Amino acid sequence: MSESSQKIKVAVSGACGKMGQEVIKAVNEDSNLELVAAIDVCNLGKDIGEIVENKSCGVNISDNLKESVKNSKAQAVVDFTTPDLVYKHTKEIIECGARPVIGTTGLSEAKLDEIKDLANSKKIGTLIAPNFAIGAVLMMMFAQKAAEYMDNAEIIETHHNKKKDAPSGTAIKTAQMMSEAQKKFGKDNCAETETLKGSRGGLTESNIHIHSVRLPGFVAHQEVIFGGKGQALTIRHDSFDRTSFMPGVVHALKEIMKKEEFVYGLEKLL
Ligand code: NAP
Repeated sequence: MSESSQKIKVAVSGACGKMGQEVIKAVNEDSNLELVAAIDVCNLGKDIGEIVENKSCGVNISDNLKESVKNSKAQAVVDFTTPDLVYKHTKEIIECGARPVIGTTGLSEAKLDEIKDLANSKKIGTLIAPNFAIGAVLMMMFAQKAAEYMDNAEIIETHHNKKKDAPSGTAIKTAQMMSEAQKKFGKDNCAETETLKGSRGGLTESNIHIHSVRLPGFVAHQEVIFGGKGQALTIRHDSFDRTSFMPGVVHALKEIMKKEEFVYGLEKLL
């Protein structure tokens, strides 16, 4: 078998976006990965290497996901597009027989369940990861551990002001993981009235308040604040740069090839 046929053939959907461009660079830099397709709605027909790194890489941009995946024989497809497209894209990737590695956030629980059923029935390894930064995954794990001992907690997440969904997928996932350790937070809080609607943020089933901040200059940041008698514990993670997500994406591409089922969260592949 030649060296190139042993490499994992990767397609990138949302290739011209902020995350997509970083993925293109990360895939091109890894000797075990081969970029075979780039999908986006802008720069159609142009070489993605010219757009991202000012040097040709022989992969032209197409806007047809299914056709690109099939024609290029991509084995895995990374998707960083938009919340309104991610469900359709994930299903299409699975139907083409490739493994989805999904970073796009905004999928509802019902849609996640449908994707899980489809991936498991077709035995196609499928990863949906609300956060690919290893530090953020650790932050979620530490928050879950702290939740075993402290039952008053709120989450504040801050992102750039072009983010389309709120709260972030990371905040939702963190709250879910904390709820596995503690069923009800803030049990002793008094009854409260919001004089300005939304002041207390979004409320999860387990009573964790999530506050979303959107400001230019930021990338992706989150604080989980625990309060107890006479003490507070803050667990914080900052992604200052989109390169923070790339080691996780590259790791996921390699690990998902060994899976035949649905996986939610990068921590399951570490
Ligand atoms: P972005 O810069 O807006 O990139 C999205 C790209 O998708 C754009 O180039 C967009 O093109 C393109 N697109 C639109 N329609 C498309 C279609 N039908 N097929 C293929 N591509 C299409 O956004 P971003 O900052 O890269 O973020 C993308 C997603 O990743 C968001 O949901 C964000 O929350 C998430 N995210 C996840 C992580 C994680 O670790 N999981 C980290 C950061 C961000 P146009 O601009 O021309 O519409």
